[in-house]
Amino acid sequence: MTIAELPPFAATDAVPANRILILGAGYAGLRCARDLGRSLDAPGAPEVMLVDRHRYHQIITELPVAAAGRIGSDDVALPLDQLLTRARVRFEQAEVEHIDLRGKQVVTTRGALSYGTLVVAVGSTTAFYGVPGLAEHALTLKSVEDAEAIKARVQEVVQQAARQTDEGARAALLSVLIGGAGLTGVELAGELAEVLPRLAERYHLPPTAPRVTLVEASPVVLPSLRGRLRTQAASILTALGIRLALGSKVVLADESGVTLASGDRLVGQTLVWTGGIMAPPLLAQSGLPTARNGQAPVDDYLRLKGYPDVYVIGDAARIPNGRGPGFLNPTAQVAIRQGEAAAQTIMAAWEGRQPRPYTPLNRGQVISLGSGTGVADLVVPLTGRKVMALKALIEEGYRFEISGRMPFVDRHRT
Ligand SMILES: Cc1cc2nc3c(=O)[nH]c(=O)nc-3n(C[C@H](O)[C@H](O)[C@H](O)COP(=O)(O)OP(=O)(O)OC[C@H]3O[C@@H](n4cnc5c(N)ncnc54)[C@H](O)[C@@H]3O)c2cc1C
Repeated sequence: MTIAELPPFAATDAVPANRILILGAGYAGLRCARDLGRSLDAPGAPEVMLVDRHRYHQIITELPVAAAGRIGSDDVALPLDQLLTRARVRFEQAEVEHIDLRGKQVVTTRGALSYGTLVVAVGSTTAFYGVPGLAEHALTLKSVEDAEAIKARVQEVVQQAARQTDEGARAALLSVLIGGAGLTGVELAGELAEVLPRLAERYHLPPTAPRVTLVEASPVVLPSLRGRLRTQAASILTALGIRLALGSKVVLADESGVTLASGDRLVGQTLVWTGGIMAPPLLAQSGLPTARNGQAPVDDYLRLKGYPDVYVIGDAARIPNGRGPGFLNPTAQVAIRQGEAAAQTIMAAWEGRQPRPYTPLNRGQVISLGSGTGVADLVVPLTGRKVMALKALIEEGYRFEISGRMPFVDRHRT
């Protein structure tokens, strides 16, 4: 059933109550909802309600693998009803359209929902920075649908290339441009650099014909990693056959490729833009105080400044990293920890206890570069196959934590 076919909420749902309303069932929102739903079981405890536009929780960290077809969409879209069986949480599928802070209600496609406490965990969206043509011509990688679209496009261009007799046109079809050499762009490039040669061979094209290019404005890949790991990651990507166009700022995109600030053109029939994120416009449009990238600044308890009953967590929140002038990187581990912290603070308020302030915890980054290798910026930097073993362990661990089952995912399906 699509959202449009779902019935409107009952009139009682708009009546003010002490409900805890959580917007977004991603890493932050799901954790917050499950923790609250398990702890708040005393009679008279507030209802915990979770709202998302999807009926499933997305394993976003594995979208690059899904885009390459190494795992299926079912592996990255886990039905929420199955994840919430042991928590007292009411889930409703709806698109959130407006947050009314004064009226303490949220307007959705299925009607209004009141709240006593609100948790905004709506994640982030792709930022196109106003570059002409980018939003129109680029694919993105933020959802299961996006991963499916990339997978379909890659198969389609290879099929078209196999029928194409003009060499230039064939090369353009087999050229995939990925804008942004941060975590998403690099992981996607690694995956596509492996799958494209296999696809090409399936259609009787030389495996060396496809070309993946990473286009990045900064002079390095993975700028959030320490220096040596960046260099190692760049060498691994090059060894995978990926062309690195570093120091290359995209100023225009169209149906046949991108133009760089230098005036150079990069030709490619497929463009995926991973070059930036911002908080969804919903926050600013609803009048929440926001920074330039749309994120909402919060206090030490993850509460929206000036609104003690409203929490903002995950990618949508702007939080100092606690180590210097910068802000926390948007990662799943950070989002999960904030979900836990917000639930603990809300529980403390319900039980009349003094809450503890949120403290950022950064365990580092583990990045795959194709199916066989990667780099990890941990206490000790790691590279090679062991990084992939670690990454699989983290992914399986998370799946086990949220589903209570040991769901082994076959990551070599193609
Ligand atoms: C391709 C990719 C790979 C990544 N890999 C890693 C990695 O390896 N490790 C890591 O730590 N981080 C990784 N990240 C970052 C990580 O996925 C995010 O930081 C994390 O998902 C943020 O969690 P969140 O709960 O804030 O948002 P999300 O997990 O994005 O959840 C937001 C939820 O809100 C819902 N929503 C949004 N707007 C509305 C609305 N208006 N109405 C209803 N529902 C709405 C969405 O459907 C979604 O379910 C990756 C990100 C991407 C894009």
